[in-house]
Amino acid sequence: MQISESKRLFAHAKNFIPGGVNSPVRAFRAVGGEPIFIKRADGAFIYDEDDNAYIELINSWGPMILGHNHPMIREAVIKAMENGTSFGAPTAREVEIAELIVSMVPSVEKVRMVNSGTEATMSAIRVARGYTGRDKFIKMEGHYHGHGDSFLISAGSGAITMGHPDSPGVTVGTAKDTLLAPYNDLEAIERLVESNKGEIAALILEPVPGNMGLTLPLPGYLEGLREICTREGIVLIFDEVMTGFRLSIGGAQELFGVTPDMTTLGKIIGGGMPVGAYGGKKEIMEFVSPAGPVYQAGTLSGNPIAMAAGLTMLNYLNSHPEVYARLSGIGRSIAEGITKINHNLDLNYTINHLGSMYSLFFTNEPVTDFESAKKSDTELFGKYFQAMLKRGVYLAPSQFESLFLSTALTDDLVGKILQAHEESMKDIL
Ligand SMILES: *Cc1c(COP(=O)(O)O)cnc(C)c1O
Repeated sequence: MQISESKRLFAHAKNFIPGGVNSPVRAFRAVGGEPIFIKRADGAFIYDEDDNAYIELINSWGPMILGHNHPMIREAVIKAMENGTSFGAPTAREVEIAELIVSMVPSVEKVRMVNSGTEATMSAIRVARGYTGRDKFIKMEGHYHGHGDSFLISAGSGAITMGHPDSPGVTVGTAKDTLLAPYNDLEAIERLVESNKGEIAALILEPVPGNMGLTLPLPGYLEGLREICTREGIVLIFDEVMTGFRLSIGGAQELFGVTPDMTTLGKIIGGGMPVGAYGGKKEIMEFVSPAGPVYQAGTLSGNPIAMAAGLTMLNYLNSHPEVYARLSGIGRSIAEGITKINHNLDLNYTINHLGSMYSLFFTNEPVTDFESAKKSDTELFGKYFQAMLKRGVYLAPSQFESLFLSTALTDDLVGKILQAHEESMKDIL
């Protein structure tokens, strides 16, 4: 496999773009080696600048649930473009997509469209603060909510009640209003609530986290959070940028039957275009400008081309619920296949799987939170990633990511993925 053109482009890119990429994880730093530059994609495959083909297990980090370059979405975009690319004024399509989202996502009674998941979570926190008149919020260790300042806080040891900035440029003043808790630990939340009585505006989490590798909520955990938030007047926010329209039509909240007060959405909602959204209870969303006092705006929000792509995607999923059973079937085949292969190997591993998401961790302990995820052998993961890539399977370039499956994966391709896995394991062990 020759990758000379990607190498040339990356070297050139570094002269003009910080680190050569427009989003850090694309640089392959966590797995060694250099990024592949993509020329085009179709169905289950992406093709690099040297025309190598790869079976895709990231799908643009989630949006391409129907596979790449789906004709239906492509045609909707081309048709919309014939009428102009942006108006900066209301359109019928925005009303249609809002009504559809409200009908699909249990917690959403009103919704505001934005341009990314980052914007959605930043705005949701602002609205929750405006609504409650409180400043602090709780976030979980290892959960990702985009790159808004107040979310870039990690869990330094002992940083239970006061966050420390994770990135230069985030002020201590900002960080001090972000309270950290470990995922899947209700007692930690009770302690935080007790020591910050009446001061917490919101609790935001990925109900099924994908950004520390796929991790599942323990039985009763989401229900417990719901109870605490209701009791304490805390706005419960599910960040479903990843899980929305993926784990079920109504996201993780529908799958687990726990309804938050607000929900943030992204990725699938744009069908591959830059779209995000936040929504929730009417009485909370009525605080958003111009209905209410909390300011939030966007020149390109509700962009007609992006809405055409998103609307086509959501309409399709809404009218084809069988997609979810099919995706789960594909996920199960891969997870069971990997388990069977690994069974015969001298290997520490854990596989977490739900629907069309899975992560293979190189640790033999159950992965239920950030601490346990961090026990993984990331060096071994890097080798695994490169071995799979060499065999034409493109995984997320980090141990701490979920993989995203699409309906474009046929049984034949699943077989090829498992064969690549078996060979890769022989290679690296
Ligand atoms: C991707 C992601 C975001 C950020 O979305 P962007 O569109 O990259 O800004 C926020 N929350 C979660 C859970 C995500 O997976």
